[in-house]
Amino acid sequence: MSGTAGPPDEAAAEVEVLVVGAGPVGCWLAAELCAAGVRAVVLEAREERATWSRGFVVHPRTLEIFASRGVAEALTAAGRKVPTWHFAMGSSRLDFTALPTTFPFIVLHPQARTEALLEDRLNRCGGRVLRGHRVVGLEQFDDRVEVRVAAGGAEQTFAARFVVGCDGARSTVREAAGIGFPGNPDTMVSPAAHVVLADPPPPERYVQTTERGLFFAIPLPDGRFVVSTVDHEVMGDVGTPWTAETLRASLLRVAGSDFGLGEVERISTIGNSAKQAERYRDGRVLLAGDAAHVHFPMGGQGMNLGIQDAHNLAWRLAETVRAARKTAGGPVVYDLLDGYEQERRPAGERVLEDVRAQMALVAATGADGAALRTRFEALLGEHPQVNLQYARRLSGIDVRYPTAPDTGDERLGRRVPDLHVEAGGGPSGLYDLLREAGSGTFTQVVVGEAVPAQADPGVPVVAVKRVAGPRWALAEGWGAAGSLLVRPDGHVAAVRDR
Ligand SMILES: Cc1cc2nc3c(=O)[nH]c(=O)nc-3n(C[C@H](O)[C@H](O)[C@H](O)COP(=O)(O)OP(=O)(O)OC[C@H]3O[C@@H](n4cnc5c(N)ncnc54)[C@H](O)[C@@H]3O)c2cc1C
Repeated sequence: MSGTAGPPDEAAAEVEVLVVGAGPVGCWLAAELCAAGVRAVVLEAREERATWSRGFVVHPRTLEIFASRGVAEALTAAGRKVPTWHFAMGSSRLDFTALPTTFPFIVLHPQARTEALLEDRLNRCGGRVLRGHRVVGLEQFDDRVEVRVAAGGAEQTFAARFVVGCDGARSTVREAAGIGFPGNPDTMVSPAAHVVLADPPPPERYVQTTERGLFFAIPLPDGRFVVSTVDHEVMGDVGTPWTAETLRASLLRVAGSDFGLGEVERISTIGNSAKQAERYRDGRVLLAGDAAHVHFPMGGQGMNLGIQDAHNLAWRLAETVRAARKTAGGPVVYDLLDGYEQERRPAGERVLEDVRAQMALVAATGADGAALRTRFEALLGEHPQVNLQYARRLSGIDVRYPTAPDTGDERLGRRVPDLHVEAGGGPSGLYDLLREAGSGTFTQVVVGEAVPAQADPGVPVVAVKRVAGPRWALAEGWGAAGSLLVRPDGHVAAVRDR
């Protein structure tokens, strides 16, 4: 057993969950834990929050999750709503307006600003980030995990009941817990740059495939552009760093113009390596976000997938911590935490598979590749049902968790949409009512004039007179429900019709 010198920080001495990494996933997880009454602290290696944004796409399911906690409005107001998105950068756009959600669009919002919003929420929930605290190792014991942390030139040991590695693709937590990260290494690379364009392409050419690859140039709220190419001529040059000049040459090759490329604020290399942790839990150590899965950022999905991991894990971990408090050092029941991997691994596999398929499409060269893309474009452009299916998958709203028993009811295991309801106080959104009932808890939604006697005194009841819309929600059968048992992450655990 290692030395257990407690941290000098008193607040940290009482910590129940250590979240490693203050990226979007760690901040969301820690905020959810704190909101549920768990003492959680985030350890972050960096002294300052990153100001440079890797990504910018926030998908509909993530917007729903944010709305369920009252933080969607600030993000949608600050970002730019886009009603269509792409699969493999094709010009047959996926029509998000057809999606059954109150957020039928993506929001372009720089990741650094999203992280700032999420950290604000964490602070409001009573949590905090300890910056300049780099985790360098960990050791598990029967009743706790000890984490070694390099901070301020010294090494400290922090202890907690659980540790969650939200420390990104090169996760120290994953490695220290001995969890493998199988998958393929990079076989092709692309640049990702934030730039000034004096002569940007028109909006209909922001994303385009050509005979020599593809490019995109997406405007950021501050007027700069995020620019990338998949350049068939050089995409296999793994290990060659991208520079402003090679980016300009690539744009000229692929797009026929450098669009007046001016200042290149930052340029990085992104690769098609696709990996998933061989398990999401080892004893008291769990993984979420990029620590659990990485892939090429095609379609802007990694942060979204990770936040959705965190949303699934948080209530399970909060419940497990509450149970552990009662048994004071007794054995931990891991069933709820095992459910996290059972539900989120397939969600991750699905995204990895979709991204691999997109990479195969964009990397296919020559006349054969062009023909493949043309046929795929036709499929998405001419068949609205196929288009809708791809939009559903990409948006994240299509995820359905297995339930027991599975009655075959399509609503079971899905997230409940933000139904328009009439309740005691007049018209309302269901998410607002669920939030008032208390996030972090299962909630019984009862629909009808008379509220029946409460079945489980531990479960808050939201009484609704009727479900009034939206129209697509009624068509999906949500209007027929007499009772819904909604999990803390918004997924439906049980449903009974009137
Ligand atoms: C060019 C590009 C564009 C992208 N575009 C999008 C997009 O549009 N939409 C989208 O959803 N996703 C996008 N992604 C993916 C997205 O950026 C990641 O999936 C997301 O950042 C993962 O979040 P995370 O919190 O899991 O990890 P990270 O954001 O990597 O955060 C990990 C944190 O852990 C800290 N850390 C690391 N090691 C330690 C340690 N030992 N101790 C303490 N702290 C540590 C790091 O400093 C960091 O703050 C893009 C990625 C790239 C590269």
